[in-house]
Amino acid sequence: METTLRGVGVSHGVAIGEVRHMGTAVLEPPAKSIPAGEAEREQGRSRQAVDAVAADLMARGNLAGGEAQAVLEAQAMMAQDPELMADVDRRIVVGSTAERAVYDAFAAYRELLAGAGEYLAGRVADLDDVRNRIVARLLGVPMPGVPDSDHPYVLVARDLAPADTALLDPSLVLGFVTEEGGPTSHSAILARALGVPAVVALPGAGELAEGTVIAVDGSTGDIFVNPSEAKKAELEAAAAERKAALAASSGPGATADGHKVPLLANVGGPADVPAALEAGAEGVGLFRTEFLFLDDSKNAPSEQKQVEAYRQVLEAFPEGRVVVRVLDAGADKPLDFLTPADEPNPALGVRGLRTLLDHPEVLRTQLTALAKAAEGLPVYLEVMAPMVADRKDARAFADACREAGLQAKFGAMVEIPSAALRARSILQEVEFLSLGTNDLAQYTFAADRQVGAVSRLQDPWQPALLDLVALSAEAAKAEGKSCGVCGEAASDPLLACVLTGLGVTSLSMGSASIPYVRATLAKYTLAQCERAAGAARAADSAEEARSAAQAVLSGE
Ligand code: PEP
Ligand code: MG
Repeated sequence: METTLRGVGVSHGVAIGEVRHMGTAVLEPPAKSIPAGEAEREQGRSRQAVDAVAADLMARGNLAGGEAQAVLEAQAMMAQDPELMADVDRRIVVGSTAERAVYDAFAAYRELLAGAGEYLAGRVADLDDVRNRIVARLLGVPMPGVPDSDHPYVLVARDLAPADTALLDPSLVLGFVTEEGGPTSHSAILARALGVPAVVALPGAGELAEGTVIAVDGSTGDIFVNPSEAKKAELEAAAAERKAALAASSGPGATADGHKVPLLANVGGPADVPAALEAGAEGVGLFRTEFLFLDDSKNAPSEQKQVEAYRQVLEAFPEGRVVVRVLDAGADKPLDFLTPADEPNPALGVRGLRTLLDHPEVLRTQLTALAKAAEGLPVYLEVMAPMVADRKDARAFADACREAGLQAKFGAMVEIPSAALRARSILQEVEFLSLGTNDLAQYTFAADRQVGAVSRLQDPWQPALLDLVALSAEAAKAEGKSCGVCGEAASDPLLACVLTGLGVTSLSMGSASIPYVRATLAKYTLAQCERAAGAARAADSAEEARSAAQAVLSGE
């Protein structure tokens, strides 16, 4: 029977497919003891689970081929290691359940490996993965990590961290549904980057049965469980119609009366460039360089590796503008070698620019790599720092850029309310501002961007957030400098008109949103956008602000 659930739509489009759950970390099985008579049955269960996991790893290895096949086959052998199996059997005989015996036997073996030299210690993660797979199978819970599937699916998860999503095969993910997260969570950002529909903050998403067919409408936030054929056809037709209308929009971003608002792309690295070019991005408004650092959380990428990645992005926009954000580590993007492990509240701790000022060598390498990457290219390079709190921060960043000999404009992100309140003072040190409305909302409303329960407060239509945007844009105008938006607020077509009306000078977003924003902006004049902005700021809630702006723009 068809049922409908409602979450928060964060990435446009419709996805129809089977549910696959992102497996969560395997919990430690309880240490309960079994009667002696059950030992044989438990031994049988453990052997069956081990064989099934080994067969599955071998099959996936065959499919993958190459280096991956060798790794997966080695894991299959680990699973069936005779000594390990004998240890599991012994533990069951003295009263362990099959899952507990596997868990403990692998823990003992893990300790041995970890202490046995660098090469074997490097296999610990593989061993943990094998253990998790066997225990998950015995407990009857989904396999941990990204689902193993050769068919396209809708990924359902509690929330998605950047590290999880690095392993996703984009050709298999039709869309995302998450239980947690708000419009600015990484799940939402990633979905927009991949151009797949997504719904977040859906309570009970975890209870959608594996394999159930669902239709995800990323515009309305509706999820249709077991949709009828008629519903599927209706959703697909509406999505196709919208796509065709968008394909007709092209060219630089501007209002109906020709007020230019460059539409730029948010990228995480060279892999995102083709989509940005296809969407007609006029440049890059936010290059989130931290994605280059996530591959190895123990070391920074070498200067050479950074030069190559930066150059690939810069070369893609000859004569265009590319705004590179220096490493934004910490809080929801921790890096082992930089982020303190013991912070009671990481979002309020050492993150963003604070981390870099504590590790000047990391900032220096990054700025030097950028200077080398831009050498000889006609691109307009702009470099900005995340999480600038005050003028002192801005000066420290500008000094570091100058010391590295960087030929670029230096800017500050406005993500902390203090930076918006004192924007003019910050602009004495830097040449542009870029509003990171995701974090600005988080810090203005004391609402963690990863927590679904407070997603109401993460809504960028909140009039208090619009006030801070207006303050920043007015300060930049008074100083004759620019003030863009690169937070997710820019990807909402209606809000993009309001931001333009507030005086924002460029909009940067996930590439998939660019056509939607371009088409909507082109429908209204600057004066209409200004009136809509005034109406939204006069409201008392996000919903009222949205309706007020909509009413002005549709001439009601
Ligand atoms: C923001 O906070 O709005 C922003 C653009 O940065 P990130 O989402 O990467 O924290
Ligand atoms: Mg941010």
